[in-house]
Formats: sequence, C-alpha cells, structure tokens
Amino acid sequence: MSAALPSPTAIPEILIVPDKRLRTRARPVTDADRPALEALMPSMFDAMYRAPGIGLAAPQIGLSLRFFIMDLGPDHARTPLILINPTIIAASETLATREEGCLSLPNQYAEITRPARITATYEDLAGVKHRIEGEDLLAACIQHEIDHLDGILFVDHLTPLKRNILLRKLAKEQREKSDDKAASRARR
Ligand SMILES: [Zn+2]
Repeated sequence: MSAALPSPTAIPEILIVPDKRLRTRARPVTDADRPALEALMPSMFDAMYRAPGIGLAAPQIGLSLRFFIMDLGPDHARTPLILINPTIIAASETLATREEGCLSLPNQYAEITRPARITATYEDLAGVKHRIEGEDLLAACIQHEIDHLDGILFVDHLTPLKRNILLRKLAKEQREKSDDKAASRARR
C-alpha cells in the first residue's frame, strides 16, 4: 500500500483523536520511501517543534509508515533523531511511571507505567542500522512513539474508566474549540 506523502514544504497537520488513521498499524519503510522521507523531514520537524512536542510519529501526520522523529534536547541544543523501522529488542522488568501527553490528544496527561529501560534498533535515512539504549524520558518516549506505529495511544495503557474520562474531556474541549472557531467566524 503506498502512502500519499504530504508536500515536503507544507507543515503537516497533526491528527487528533478520534481520527481513524491514528488506529492503523503502519507498514515498514522501504528503500523506495527514503528519498521522500528525507524531503519531508524539515517540515515534519517544524510541525513537532511548533506544537511544541518532543516526539512525532508518521501516523500522527496521516502517514502509515513505521518511523518517528524525536528531540529530547533543550531548545538551545536541539538533538533531532529520526528512527525508521524501530523495534524494541529488550525491555527491563523494572517498571517506571511518568506523566505522558500526546500531540494527538492535546492538553490530556496521565501517569503511564512502562518498562524503565529499553534497547531498540532502528534505521537512519540512509538505511544504516543503529541501536539505542534508553531509560527515563528517552525510554518512555521511544515506547510511546513505537506504540503509535501499531495504532496504540498512551490512553490504551490506562484502565477503561480512566481512559473514558480522559477521552470525554478531550472530546468536550475539541467541541468547545470548534464552537469558538465558528463563533469567531460568525462575528466577522
Ligand atoms: Zn503521541
């Protein structure tokens, strides 16, 4: 299945729950995809920094491909990373809980428990394979983003009750936001 790549110059729009494209398992990136991905990178990083966010997975911009971008560096020392076809090859039995949020669920945060340390492999834009080991925020971020490639959202790690409260709150806020937009259009 070929993915229609957005124009490399336009800043891609970040999809919001309950967009169905966030729930689809993405397909692996092939060598044929790499030139288009490379062209897309500047605008995809722009979209992430602008949001602002520290990670953005391809399905969040409507691309059903297995890659994500990440930058955990402070504003003054950006450390952009592109992880293509990432796979977690080891995860610690020790768990860690930290607050997570997601650009596809604006303003919603919850404490999520995941393995504290992980090792993952991924490819870069040239197709070279790398290995990354992480703990703390890095481990959580990689797991959160790989989840996106399988159509999984951080709220799926919550109990159904907590998940529903959060999703209802999001739906209400999104409704109010679109009402506000309609009202300001009507005033003009
Ligand atoms: Zn996310």
